[in-house]
Amino acid sequence: MKSKSEQTEKGMNILVLNCGSSSLKFQIIDTDLKKIENNTDEQKAKGLVERIGGESIITLTATGKPSAKQTLPLRDHRQALDHVLRWLINPKTGIPGIQSLDDINAVGHRVVHGAERFKKSALINDEVIKGIEDCIDLAPLHNPANLKGIHAAIESFGSKVPQVAIFDTAFHSLMPETSYLYAIPYRLYRRHRVRRYGFHGTSHRYVAFRYRILTGKDQKNTNVITIHLGNGCSAAAIKNGISTDTSMGMTPLEGLVMGTRSGDIDPAIIEYIILKEAMSITEVVALLNKQSGLLGLSGLTNDMRDLLAEEKEHNDRRAKLAIDIFCLRVKKYIGAYLAEMNGADAIIFTGGIGENAPVIRSRICAELDWMGVEIDEELNKQVINGKEGEISKQGARLHTFVIPTNEELLIARDTLRCVLNVPRQW
Ligand code: ADP
Repeated sequence: MKSKSEQTEKGMNILVLNCGSSSLKFQIIDTDLKKIENNTDEQKAKGLVERIGGESIITLTATGKPSAKQTLPLRDHRQALDHVLRWLINPKTGIPGIQSLDDINAVGHRVVHGAERFKKSALINDEVIKGIEDCIDLAPLHNPANLKGIHAAIESFGSKVPQVAIFDTAFHSLMPETSYLYAIPYRLYRRHRVRRYGFHGTSHRYVAFRYRILTGKDQKNTNVITIHLGNGCSAAAIKNGISTDTSMGMTPLEGLVMGTRSGDIDPAIIEYIILKEAMSITEVVALLNKQSGLLGLSGLTNDMRDLLAEEKEHNDRRAKLAIDIFCLRVKKYIGAYLAEMNGADAIIFTGGIGENAPVIRSRICAELDWMGVEIDEELNKQVINGKEGEISKQGARLHTFVIPTNEELLIARDTLRCVLNVPRQW
């Protein structure tokens, strides 16, 4: 492995890993401290392995080249990672600058839940692994999958390549207790840590950071509402540079209407459905996570693009209803957070829907002119497909921005900074 000073100058190839229960997503990002400062970090490759455990579908892309797609039976995450690594170092298929595993200098892992234990990214050792295991109760689907990725990488690289865990919850870990406590008996927090943790923290943190760069504001003067609208959706109130409230809760189910998640509902509905539909509690929780949201309301799809098409082309009533409820919920949170924060400087849209659907941004921001939100529809139409910029009318009191998220990039940067042990800003 290169020495620290060499890595600072020449940069590191960071393998960013995001493992789901049957999937492995990765990127190779070449970064160093100068590149971070100049925003010139380079993505060299990316890929996705789906359906691990069966006939896996593998998509691998060296940046600038066409994607290669294949199917192959891959037993587990270890085999999937092996396959990816062999492709990366193969001179015929792989990427320039990576001839052997020695050319990968560090691995950054997305980890969903860090609970109260992890308030920032952490260099992985036995104690950190134990800490991530201790959070499994709170994220029974996600943390075990993230751990599979960590163990697979340790087996492939051994102990000489440093690995870093970047937590979805960390950015929200400074929320005040007035935001994170639920109004249920306090002992449930004391005994079982029942509280709001929030998720998508890496995304909220990244777009707030980009906003700072775009506007020249310092961290302490950053007062924004960040709205991540993808398959999962969440909003965060960032006051004086700190996430002071967020819409997802102890789990990602709370808050905004999402592709298949209900977001906020009256918790008493759960018992009522159990009785009326003769369902188990597990089935109802699955229904709220997987069959609700845009999918449940429309009865058609969880995909916003398809819903917008249905509404436009067939005037589908339920598609329109789903979209209207989705937008109204976001509007409610904007209002709530503006009240909670005593105003803000900007609203920032991100995520697949937030970045690419001007019509949804318009519908959310309609009739918010009294609070200073005014969208320039021409600009709004233009800022799509990965573009970054302001979409408000000149003179609007509350600015509106679209900033594409890049969680992988922030994971790579945090990994580098953890390995070099240099202070991290967000
Ligand atoms: P994930 O949360 O899984 O990362 P994304 O951030 O990619 O998901 O967001 C997926 C959502 O973005 C889907 O609902 C998809 O329909 C929506 N989306 C992507 N492109 C557009 C578009 N051009 N117009 C409307 N919705 C879009």
